[in-house]
Amino acid sequence: MLRLGLTGGIGSGKSEVARLLSSYGAVLIDSDRIAREVVEPGTPGLAAVVAEFGPGVLTADGALDRPKLGGIVFGDPGRLKALNAIVHPLVRARSAELEAGAGQDAIVVHDVPLLVENGMTGLFDLVLVVDASSETRLDRLVKRRGMERDEALARMAAQADRDERLAAADLVIANDGPLEKLKPQVNEVWRELTARAAAGR
Ligand code: ADP
Repeated sequence: MLRLGLTGGIGSGKSEVARLLSSYGAVLIDSDRIAREVVEPGTPGLAAVVAEFGPGVLTADGALDRPKLGGIVFGDPGRLKALNAIVHPLVRARSAELEAGAGQDAIVVHDVPLLVENGMTGLFDLVLVVDASSETRLDRLVKRRGMERDEALARMAAQADRDERLAAADLVIANDGPLEKLKPQVNEVWRELTARAAAGR
């Protein structure tokens, strides 16, 4: 098994790269998705969050009120740490479970938006960073995702900067150009991954 950590700033095109790698045969493990699953209604994860933050973080129908919780932890490192202490171990355990089911020859891609921010570089055989300038990313978030400019800038500012992310990279995909320039690069990375996986066998 070859384990790749995939990351990139918001709007870099990380999800696009994940989708392509998965279409080539990678087993994709999406940490954002798992982070939502482990706090769905009825889970021990949600019970732990309510025990820590109070029933005020629930919607009327008993689901997690994400904007509300986001408002509590955003800009408060202590509260964010408390939330991460609940969610991160659950995400790690579920990811490990999914990985264990992937098979010995699998190339497993962990899609982790905050890989660098959360100091997770050492957890993978290789780290792939999807890189794009702030201007490109802002433009995509506003034009393609319909985000307000200020919201997009705030989200970008809350993440690691470009240099910090690049410093953690074993492989880099430059995605400032059009999608037609992205695909051949992902192809090339896939070739590299399959070669490494074969060499490790
Ligand atoms: P991330 O997961 O890094 O936040 P996405 O992969 O969702 O970013 O990309 C943000 C948006 O930009 C999406 O609508 C995506 O389809 C688009 N996109 C990604 N790469 C390119 C590119 N090279 N050219 C044009 N649009 C792109």
